[in-house]
Amino acid sequence: MPRLVDLSPEAFAAHLTSLGRRRASFVHDNGVVRSSHPELAEIANHLLGDTRDYHRHEGVFLEVGATTGALFGAFVHNTTRGQGQGGLRYWPYGDLAGFLSDGLRLSHGMTRKSALAGLWWGGGKGLIARHIDHPYHDIGFRERLYTEYAGFVASLRGCYITAEDAGTGPADMAVVARGTRFVTCTPPAVGGAGNPSPATAKGVVCAMEGALAHLGLGDLAGKKIVMQGTGNVGAAMIGELVQRGVGSILASELSPARREQLEKEFAGAPLTVVPAEPGDNRILAEPCDILAPNALGGILDPDTIPTIQARIVCGAANNQLLDDVRDGEALRARGIVYVPDFLCNRMGIVYCANEQYGKVPHDAAIERHYGRDWDNAVYVVTRRALELAERENITSAAAANRLADALATEPHPIWGHRARAIVAGLVADGWAD
Ligand code: NAD
Repeated sequence: MPRLVDLSPEAFAAHLTSLGRRRASFVHDNGVVRSSHPELAEIANHLLGDTRDYHRHEGVFLEVGATTGALFGAFVHNTTRGQGQGGLRYWPYGDLAGFLSDGLRLSHGMTRKSALAGLWWGGGKGLIARHIDHPYHDIGFRERLYTEYAGFVASLRGCYITAEDAGTGPADMAVVARGTRFVTCTPPAVGGAGNPSPATAKGVVCAMEGALAHLGLGDLAGKKIVMQGTGNVGAAMIGELVQRGVGSILASELSPARREQLEKEFAGAPLTVVPAEPGDNRILAEPCDILAPNALGGILDPDTIPTIQARIVCGAANNQLLDDVRDGEALRARGIVYVPDFLCNRMGIVYCANEQYGKVPHDAAIERHYGRDWDNAVYVVTRRALELAERENITSAAAANRLADALATEPHPIWGHRARAIVAGLVADGWAD
């Protein structure tokens, strides 16, 4: 019998079902991980032994979809600042170990991202293992899948709040919203906040201003910006940068239709959009003041970093460093100021995280992130993280993590660490039985 964590998610789901079970939970308890079922203790030990991604996560919950047979996961990292919130990723995984480490890593990241943004939310993440046989373009299948996932989230009583992420979109969240109240980042048709991309773009631009100020380089006026990807965020960023009087923008983009649209929209602006091929990173080597990776993650690596000719790297793409430590150090060694993505692209989550509190025009709870007075504003935190990195001779990501980890210990002013009690209640009531 292979180790359970070496099974594919589908084989593990079948194994769980063969044991007469559909659910499993792994809950942190005084330095150990308690498994809901003794026959799954191996997984509890695996989690505890994962020194890279397991950070005393408060709970990991698994369920097999009743009719789809898909493996669902909800990962609750730290709920001191509020319920564990984070998007639902629908993604293929080779084995259960990969599924678990992705959920652990991403939920830990959400604790930090929300805390650093001053949000009263803890860290969580949802996963659905996508199988090659899933007809995931089929609307009927997706309805069934997200209805089942919604039931799973509802059963967790609010220790995890889901949202969209890679592989899921607003329409999927509208389906989830029919089955649970514990969902955010829903479409406007069901009362949600709508497209966060303009807010994300504006937040990244505030971080650029913070980085320029840190280096004593003034403001954005006259600066040369190089950008990879002009999608939802990139296009909005061009608008923000043009408004601030940048000297020039050189952008690369895969889509000919997008390039054409931008040329029309920004006719007369100092913008050049050049074509690119998938995986094409040549744009990163262009000389500029600020390089903004706005396409895919993992592009800052030992091949690209030596070619960079920018003073600052600050863009929206998630997980830009292929290896957080190695590549963060390499940028630092080259004297390039890197604004960690989870700091500068926070507005994606900020924009929708609190949508259940209702909508107001020019929402002050959003606007303060773009200002310079609020202690948690993007500009202020960018400067604080870069100053800490310089003072302590550490990478900017390590500095931002340090600030985030300190904030993550502050309990929600009203509901501090309530989700821990929710998890305890689930265990006491035999959620997994
Ligand atoms: P998007 O898909 O709308 O845009 C990405 C663009 O990059 C596309 O137009 C694509 O054609 C282009 N692209 C891909 N590979 C390229 C390459 N090698 N060279 C040049 N262009 C390339 O996505 P988006 O919503 O604009 O998000 C961009 C990034 O920011 C993603 O990594 C996303 O995860 C992250 N992010 C987005 C938000 C948000 O609010 N949308 C929030 C936080 C983080």
